[in-house]
Amino acid sequence: MSPLDHHEPADPADRPADAARPGSTLITGISELTTQDAEHRVLHDAAVVVEEDRIAWIGPADEVPAADAVHDLGGRAVLPGWVDSHTHLVFAGDRGAEFEARMAGDSYSAGGIGVTMEATRCADDATLEALVASRVQDAVDGGTTFLETKTGYGLSVEEEARHARIAAEAADAVTFLGAHLVPPGADAAEYLDQVRGPMLEAVRPHVQWADVFCERGAFDAGASRAVLQDCAAAGLGLRIHGNQLGPGPGVQLAVELDAASVDHVNHLDDADVEALAASWSSEGAGTVATCLPACDLSTRQPLAPARRLLDAGVEVALASNCNPGTSYTTSMAFCVSTAVLQMGLSLHEAVRAATVGGARALRVDDEVGSLEVGKRADLHALEAPAAIHLAYRPGMPLTHAVWRAGRRAA
Ligand SMILES: [Zn+2]
Repeated sequence: MSPLDHHEPADPADRPADAARPGSTLITGISELTTQDAEHRVLHDAAVVVEEDRIAWIGPADEVPAADAVHDLGGRAVLPGWVDSHTHLVFAGDRGAEFEARMAGDSYSAGGIGVTMEATRCADDATLEALVASRVQDAVDGGTTFLETKTGYGLSVEEEARHARIAAEAADAVTFLGAHLVPPGADAAEYLDQVRGPMLEAVRPHVQWADVFCERGAFDAGASRAVLQDCAAAGLGLRIHGNQLGPGPGVQLAVELDAASVDHVNHLDDADVEALAASWSSEGAGTVATCLPACDLSTRQPLAPARRLLDAGVEVALASNCNPGTSYTTSMAFCVSTAVLQMGLSLHEAVRAATVGGARALRVDDEVGSLEVGKRADLHALEAPAAIHLAYRPGMPLTHAVWRAGRRAA
């Protein structure tokens, strides 16, 4: 008999009540509460009080204060909602055939982005909005409560602005990735001028971040630096796709420019790891190394060296990198189980990377990523008595309920 059988199941009837009344709600019957706070507290037989969109109280279930409504989880584990800090959700079409060819032995190069660019340009606003909304809902249904997404399949001033607007309607944070690829047939220097000038200006109202695909076949260090410096001058935070397909300058450039995150990081030398670690030993926020294991598996790249990075003192994030070419999944639970089973992380380290790590990569860790009084009430209740089940039962549907900003979202 599982521990869940000792308790009444949660009443599905309280879902509309929670949605309708955002007063105070007591969430109790929590067998294990993983806070991911600074003390790494894990509470047993715990409860949480949510008031409006905030966490108002955390403590033992037998000491709870009064609340307007009660939700009994019946002995289930709760952790912070996932913070997915790296997705590319604004796209149409899929690249299943390219994936199949890759699994049959073809190698991955950056050029497939052009295929998605063509398909996405052909999709009208309503089609694209519906596709993005359904992908965000998939993510929320799997426990994601804060999600970043990017442009980068538009690659013209008009299309990048359209994608940025659609992204901003659906995501919590939006990144301008005009420097994803020089579109097929375009002159590289002319395209770069466009990205740094009219394209940046057109997307600016919709985005908080800028990103560059700093990789052989995409943009070199000089071009990447130029784009990012202009974006920083326009008030955007910086992030970089780097060191994915081979050794490269992405990590060093990210640290040099105080980027919030460098993402992929599959191919690192000692100097790269040292630079990232040094960014965390000085004042202020450092550069997060964001690992994308679903992408590594889909491209049959070596998994990013998350263990080595953590041991060196680098803040690590896990993200889905959902995109049609190299990682067509929004499952953060899959990333967490992979990190535990194949990358040498403990469950606690993997969950931290998928919550606090992602929040730090988006520099919103004062607001989300951990369960603490005063923070946004983003909770993920599992269909399991303990969070270790995420890795112990990989691939199982373990999301029981999700609260986002205090409201039931799944
Ligand atoms: Zn990406």
